[in-house]
Amino acid sequence: MYPMYPMYPGVPKSSRKLSLVVLALLTLLPSLAHAYGSSVHRMVNRSATTHLPATFQGFSQWVGDLEDFSTAPDERKCCVPGESIKHYIDIDDYPEFFTGTLPHSYAEMVAQYGQFRVEDNGTVPWAILASYQDLVATFEHQDWELAVVSAADLGHYVADSHNPMHLTMNYNGQLTGQYGIHSRHESEMTSRHLAALEPAPGTVTLITDPLEAAFAWIDEVYPGVDQILAADLVATAAAGGSTSSNTYYDRLWLEVGDETTAWIRDASLTLASLWYSAWVEAGSPPLPGDATDAIPALAESKTRMLANVPNPFNPSTQLRFELAHAGSATLQIVDATGRTVRRFEFGFLDQGLHAVRWDGTDQSGRRVASGVYAVAVLDDRGASATGRVVLVK
Ligand SMILES: [Zn+2]
Repeated sequence: MYPMYPMYPGVPKSSRKLSLVVLALLTLLPSLAHAYGSSVHRMVNRSATTHLPATFQGFSQWVGDLEDFSTAPDERKCCVPGESIKHYIDIDDYPEFFTGTLPHSYAEMVAQYGQFRVEDNGTVPWAILASYQDLVATFEHQDWELAVVSAADLGHYVADSHNPMHLTMNYNGQLTGQYGIHSRHESEMTSRHLAALEPAPGTVTLITDPLEAAFAWIDEVYPGVDQILAADLVATAAAGGSTSSNTYYDRLWLEVGDETTAWIRDASLTLASLWYSAWVEAGSPPLPGDATDAIPALAESKTRMLANVPNPFNPSTQLRFELAHAGSATLQIVDATGRTVRRFEFGFLDQGLHAVRWDGTDQSGRRVASGVYAVAVLDDRGASATGRVVLVK
């Protein structure tokens, strides 16, 4: 009844052919990831549906898609610029982290450390915030297809940030002579104990500030860096220097199995809480199939701009629009003086909702000034509509 057509908001759908190619890449490429093994990502997204309260239980109807899309962010690393830095934060590169004075807003971080260092150290807290905001917006529009994609993305980043080795400069033990510990812990060890890692059903909490929440759980998970590195040394010694034998992995599990189980359970519960909080923030819209859900009238499709997310924005925002019918379309961004600063040309798009990310640059890749911009969508039958976006710096 609600078939899933995955839409990847970060991928400009400049033509039907391109979107099919990208979709094929996204679904067929093996994960190149250093992330919790794909089975853990699947487990976190799947098990999160078991914690949902009765009022929001209907969201679990998409459990299969939430699970299948759980690794999409890793698969996008190959092809979507800026994706790879969203999976981690080398938070111990910032001395202020240890004194509790690290700023949490992205703009303040960039002001204090410069954009290069902030991006180089990874941006997972803000990727979580952006996915959460996308999820609120898709719930507001009752756009369930996009909601599931955003919810699955959110689950990926939440899981990554519950892995201590995604929170440190020494992410692969390279600074302490323990090269390879990253995947030994997160992939090989976890794959040997999947059943034990499965989180039991729990209870969600309402999260009012996702970014603060993310920094709070990072504080709690971070001490795991030392625990994992110490466990690796103990296990290596117990295995007579081997880091690949059963003896090594049995001992590693004995040392940090309980902690790892707790991190994954926290990720699963936090994810369910964020999904639920996003739905509440969006006004608790009825889910398809809910008893209270009146049969929705088929909305008349028209060419229009939807609110971009986020707005105001910096550094990027998702421009959303709807086409009344399939065909070519143009998206044009115009500054306050009437000058077109950026055009997106789409050779062929399906009827319905579409999204494209704008990174605040003009046609030649330069950052445009802060201010108000008009965005106009024009379809190939001449219908057009405009919206307003605000870039802040
Ligand atoms: Zn990842």
